[in-house]
Amino acid sequence: MTAIQETDRAERLVALLPEAEIDLLLVTDLTNLRYLTGYVGSNAIAVLGPETRTFATDFRYAVQVEEQVDRSFDRRELPRDWSTAVEEVLPAGVVRLGFETAMPVRVHARLREVLPDRVELIPVDGLVERLRAVKERGEVERIRAASELADQALEQLLAEGLVGRSEREAALALEFAMRELGAERVSFEPIVAAGPHGAMAHAIPSETEIVPGQLVVIDWGAQLDGYCSDCTRTVATGELSGSASEVYEIVLRAQLAGLEGVRAGAVAAEVDSRARQLIGDAGYGERFGHGLGHGVGLEVHEAPRLGPGADDELVAGNIVTVEPGIYVPGELGVRIEDLVVVTGSGCEILTSLPKELTVVG
Ligand code: ZN
Ligand code: ZN
Repeated sequence: MTAIQETDRAERLVALLPEAEIDLLLVTDLTNLRYLTGYVGSNAIAVLGPETRTFATDFRYAVQVEEQVDRSFDRRELPRDWSTAVEEVLPAGVVRLGFETAMPVRVHARLREVLPDRVELIPVDGLVERLRAVKERGEVERIRAASELADQALEQLLAEGLVGRSEREAALALEFAMRELGAERVSFEPIVAAGPHGAMAHAIPSETEIVPGQLVVIDWGAQLDGYCSDCTRTVATGELSGSASEVYEIVLRAQLAGLEGVRAGAVAAEVDSRARQLIGDAGYGERFGHGLGHGVGLEVHEAPRLGPGADDELVAGNIVTVEPGIYVPGELGVRIEDLVVVTGSGCEILTSLPKELTVVG
């Protein structure tokens, strides 16, 4: 098993505070709050430090807090203007209080106004996110389950066929299948992009009818028990013309080359460059405009990032996508994406769908 053991997440966070040169961290990001406390709601804060573990939310969530929030937290009710509540939980003397950089500027301004001068507000980037990037055993199992569900939904969609349906109809059927199979929601709006639409990496499904002889890019994911999956397959609707099959083969080889580079200790940018090099050598370097992959967890895009310039080293327990693509404007797009768990010796692929070009009616 590669993932780290379940330990106290708040404790692990507090161990990182000295390095960030802060005494306490004010957590306002809802995903980070969920990760640290168990709370799933729309309005809450937490303050964590060596001697402090406070969680506060408003009265609407009183019942929920009882069910969800970890017992180790001192639980309080959050007033309407919560900036005034922060000081209450701070220790005496000079305090270096970290805040998450995603905090809205107006909230920051209000905090500065309300808190006494002894409190120094220090921006902190990605501290909880760093913990989230390394999955615990239970998290790996949840993402595996989400991925299996999503795979099954695609199999159902392809069994029904694509030709004659609009991209929008196919995307809706895929979403419906995921929900019917038990997904809480989709990780993101599914992408179904046929023929020239496939050249837009983030195409919005249109009313355009899918016709024979096209490549269709399908990118989708399910969220289950809070955790996301993410996968892309590109399928053919009959015999292809022009360079379509060749482009598919290049992307597939690049995807396999990328996967081969994934292992604990590998530098993210180097994994990216394995796939990028191959696409560049085939003459399509200009047509692969995005990074090779990204972490997946409570959010569909999280740390670590696999792309040019990403100097993070992968560690066992990271869950990342490997998703090279080639996009030829006005013609076609191909992307192949797997979800993998990083291990000491390589990676375990969570996606179980085949990658050789599948022809669908
Ligand atoms: Zn995707
Ligand atoms: Zn992705």
